[in-house]
Amino acid sequence: MDQNFVSGIGNIYANEILFYSKIHPKKKAFQINTNEMNKLVKFSEYVLQLAIQHGGSTISDFKNTKSSIGSFQKKFKVYDRENKKCLKKSCNGKIIKKFISNRSTFFCNFCQK
Ligand SMILES: [Zn+2]
Repeated sequence: MDQNFVSGIGNIYANEILFYSKIHPKKKAFQINTNEMNKLVKFSEYVLQLAIQHGGSTISDFKNTKSSIGSFQKKFKVYDRENKKCLKKSCNGKIIKKFISNRSTFFCNFCQK
């Protein structure tokens, strides 16, 4: 995934958004079709709203303004879940961790294409 594509969104959020969108993190921006683009837009909104509702995440790229402890990390589907079972229903995959562009990237090799 081209970093520019998700610029402004922290690494954790990018991981989560790609998971919900079922897009492989190594996919290049030019390989994204309209359907996938729509999913990215939809789930970017969803994940960021979830993050805001839960006050951000303490281990994250962004700290919330009150610097209180955010509970968003409890909502992570892929981030920091290496070797754990994929949370997508009907998927038997495991979460993999890889370094892509010097960032730790978590994804399911099974349902993210
Ligand atoms: Zn999966």
